Amino acid sequence: MSVRLRVAPSPTGDPHVGTAYVSLFCLAFARQQGGQFVLRLEDTDRARFREDSEQQIYDMLHWLSLDWDEGPDKGGPFAPYRQSERLDTYRPHVDALVADGHAYYCWCTPDRLQAMREEQQKRKMPTGYDRLCYGKTREERAELPGFSDAAVVRMLIPDDAPIAFTDVIRGEVHAPTPDDQVILKADGFPTYHLAVVVDDHLMGITHVVRGEEWISSTPKHLLLFDWLGWERPAFAHMPLLRNTDKSKISKRKNPAARLTWFVEEGYLPEALVNFLGLLGYSMPSGEEIFTFDEMSASFDWSRVNTVGPVFDLDKLGWLNGHYLRELAPDDFVRRVLPFLHDAGLVAHPPTATEQAVLAAAVPEIQPRMKLLTEAPGLLRFLLVSEESFVVDPEAVEKHVVGSGALLAAAADALEPVEVWDTAHVQGAMDAALLEDGLGLKRGKAYAPIRAAVCGSSISPPLPESLALLGKERTLRRLRAAIV
Ligand code: GLU
Repeated sequence: MSVRLRVAPSPTGDPHVGTAYVSLFCLAFARQQGGQFVLRLEDTDRARFREDSEQQIYDMLHWLSLDWDEGPDKGGPFAPYRQSERLDTYRPHVDALVADGHAYYCWCTPDRLQAMREEQQKRKMPTGYDRLCYGKTREERAELPGFSDAAVVRMLIPDDAPIAFTDVIRGEVHAPTPDDQVILKADGFPTYHLAVVVDDHLMGITHVVRGEEWISSTPKHLLLFDWLGWERPAFAHMPLLRNTDKSKISKRKNPAARLTWFVEEGYLPEALVNFLGLLGYSMPSGEEIFTFDEMSASFDWSRVNTVGPVFDLDKLGWLNGHYLRELAPDDFVRRVLPFLHDAGLVAHPPTATEQAVLAAAVPEIQPRMKLLTEAPGLLRFLLVSEESFVVDPEAVEKHVVGSGALLAAAADALEPVEVWDTAHVQGAMDAALLEDGLGLKRGKAYAPIRAAVCGSSISPPLPESLALLGKERTLRRLRAAIV
């Protein structure tokens, strides 16, 4: 039988990095085995539902090239793939569980449940539903306090509920004994626990891959599979991604929990895929740089880590630099263009002049960048018009004030240069400013020139920058900065 895996995000806001992490591992295994990868939207939590979240999930997984075979947007043999469109599917299973005595109606009001919990805590008793409604008809229960017309349905967890299971990654796992979990809410929507089991079964899911935080829910799911007479899938609980202080990565605490953050910060999708792979997986070769295809070809659950990996952004930056350097020049330009456009430095699409400037500058900036967001800073001096060229006041303060003589010497030395390339520009500047000229050290001599001509302290190396900028613009900026 071919394997079928799924990722089941809830569209409750910006897509979480964990969705990409789980998708990567599902897809690596599914592709290796010639199986399928399904995207299912678990949108039954209507209070937290966010309209735009679904599209963002598609966009982010597409950005990472973690594509699915079946899903709400694509359809497939088990459609629909949005749980809110499957409500009729769940109800008969709830009725069957009630009829078989595995589940029961509960009419307790939220206030009564709250008071019950507080009382249990006060008495230091284990918290959990006290089964006030169990075994009672609606009429019998209505006689007692804390009755609500809207009933929920709860699982009747037996004392000997199976709490141990074999996890594909972790081996034998013992989870805590569950409470009488609600499976159908008062609004008629199933809870996650019921919907996930019904859908995983009906969609033929063979391997449930999800975050470690779901381990404590798995015994409930196993009971439901058993009660409904369905074969249990395999379970693989991925180690949680952690902040450097080892806490669980959450959107509240860490911007890097949001997938859109990586796009905004200028990371490449291939670097993020490699990074997420590296966080959870060890390649047989021990290699740290690997592609999705390499990871998928070598995939083996025994190589998945069990210890929560720390989200080390320095490592991601290093990987990003690597993948940036690997890009073909045209591709590199294509990736930096949106950042340059957002910074107001190029038109959309770029003009022929802008394209020529970029093509010439790529060899200078590509090896120096770690993030796409660095491109505007490095290229501003080349792309701004002379009218809007402004020198960073701080750079002026530090290097240009009082440097008039130096700037004048540089301008005079550069004026006669005929072949305007890196070597000639550097030769002329060095002759005028270093030992044989003003006697300065190169760092000291170049800093004010860079400030005056590039407008900031960030740019490719100075001779290269001036060569790119051209003679006329260089001289004009040098002379304009002499005070
Ligand atoms: N909807 C759950 C989530 O957002 C899915 C958990 C599972 O994969 O079973 O994490």
